[in-house]
Amino acid sequence: MAFIEFQDVRKVYHMGSVDVTAVDGMTFSVEKGELCVIVGPSGAGKTTVLNMLGGMDKPTSGVIRLGDRVVSDMDDRQLTYYRRLDIGFVFQFYNLVQNLTAVENVELAAQICPDPLPAAEVLERVGLGHRLDNFPAQLSGGEQQRVAIARAIAKNPQLLLCDEPTGALDYQTGKQILELLQDTCHETGQPVCIVTHNLAFTQIADRVIHVREGRASKIEVNSHPASAA
Ligand code: ADP
Ligand code: ADP
Repeated sequence: MAFIEFQDVRKVYHMGSVDVTAVDGMTFSVEKGELCVIVGPSGAGKTTVLNMLGGMDKPTSGVIRLGDRVVSDMDDRQLTYYRRLDIGFVFQFYNLVQNLTAVENVELAAQICPDPLPAAEVLERVGLGHRLDNFPAQLSGGEQQRVAIARAIAKNPQLLLCDEPTGALDYQTGKQILELLQDTCHETGQPVCIVTHNLAFTQIADRVIHVREGRASKIEVNSHPASAA
């Protein structure tokens, strides 16, 4: 069995008398150590997939597994722990705590986890060893996103989930962030799933899941991207 499994997952939102089917029978899998990019146009259902994988939303039907855990069977309390301990999140707009330094932001997130990595070491790994005591407002957008990635990595999670992680960055900075996520994934073996509408991301992916109208319309597996360099 693969590390991540989505089996015929559906998500229907009830909006008064109208049903909106956001995800309509989605099936895919991701192996450990893979960088997976979920790509598709706006409204295709990508964020809903990410939210269900991250335990922020529950499927209407179908099965979602991570390792030996069945996420789709978890109750609210289990999902809360799952989000806090097992998943590292990276968002488009960094979501750093403004009155904490870089190293404090990373420590804050990791401290509730059972097996956290040292904050300063992780910041060094993402290229911010010289920025430990800076506040977010003193950092560029790319640097803030590196802090956010360090914060996610330091939890030592089962999985990193990134929603449009370069959406607020210029092309060159965004490219460096993607390379950082790729290195992280291949060095630690932690799978990384990135949601984006940007097809340029598919070049660095080990697996590309194209989403259209709530379904996986095409899945591409790139066999040896890690050794391609
Ligand atoms: P994407 O991330 O690909 O842009 P989304 O997963 O955000 O797509 O949305 C897929 C569809 O589900 C869209 O039609 C959207 O309007 C709808 N949708 C998403 N979240 C909700 C919600 N909380 N309530 C109602 N409809 C939603
Ligand atoms: P809880 O408050 O019960 O821990 P949340 O869903 O609010 O549940 O947060 C769980 C984890 O998800 C947090 O550790 C946080 O890192 C992440 N998270 C979820 N949504 C956001 C968001 N919009 N901005 C920043 N982090 C978020």
